[in-house]
Amino acid sequence: MSKVALITGGTRGIGKQIAITLANEGYDIAVNYRTENDDLKSTEKEIKSKNVDFIGVQGDVSVFEDTERFVKEVIDKYGKIDVVVNNAGITRDTLLMRMKKEDFESVINVNLTGTFNVTKNVIPYMMKAHSGRIINISSVVGIAGNAGQTNYSASKAGIIGFTKSLAKEVASRNILVNAVAPGFIETAMTDVLKDEVKEEIAKSIPLKRMGKAEDVANVVKFLASDDSSYITGQVINIDGGMLM
Ligand code: NDP
Repeated sequence: MSKVALITGGTRGIGKQIAITLANEGYDIAVNYRTENDDLKSTEKEIKSKNVDFIGVQGDVSVFEDTERFVKEVIDKYGKIDVVVNNAGITRDTLLMRMKKEDFESVINVNLTGTFNVTKNVIPYMMKAHSGRIINISSVVGIAGNAGQTNYSASKAGIIGFTKSLAKEVASRNILVNAVAPGFIETAMTDVLKDEVKEEIAKSIPLKRMGKAEDVANVVKFLASDDSSYITGQVINIDGGMLM
């Protein structure tokens, strides 16, 4: 029986690449999406072309009831979830002096509370199965901080604390919980940066380039696999050497 992976925010960017990479490994794929659009259709087509099963489940990860419903939709279809990738995330960048309360709350609600909401609904099934992998997408700025991102950095640092605490809670049930901390990865999220800024960033990275979604997806693939069965509570940086 194939393993089942649920990826939140999986119709574009890093999430889509994770879904494709895990599909290449033979996982059946459940992709959570917030917005029904062409991205969803193209993701579905690409995944199905790999001869694995696909289900798209709509829902806003920041709304607990949505996550309750869409996790159940996945369980109703496959009877289990082997791997969860908490990938959905947003930015609302600005200096604290200018940041509105809503900018802070929305980022925390999607990135951090969303990770809680999805995990909380999946964990009972993993506990029963005595197995599971939870992989949370943090960020280097959750470790190092970044001017203009107090909200985002707080959410990503929160994910690291969440990851380590949960890893301790569920290790005895053979559920492994890890996080990855990407640096600057080429997606819509970083596309808003001006070209000059991107060039400056690339220059400051030891490997002299921004990362690609594949760079993140390949580490997620490893953390989902049997090859990482003695790793839990860790944060793996995928940043071309930005943080050492
Ligand atoms: P994108 O903006 O390209 O994609 C984000 C995805 O999250 C979209 O599919 C989006 O769906 C989904 N999403 C946003 N809010 C919600 C929500 N409330 N409920 C469900 N889905 C939602 O970002 P990236 O691919 O770049 O980022 C993916 C993850 O990686 C994020 O957690 C991000 O913080 C993290 N990351 C990214 C880095 C980078 O440099 N790109 C660096 C470090 C971390 P929709 O299409 O509906 O908007």
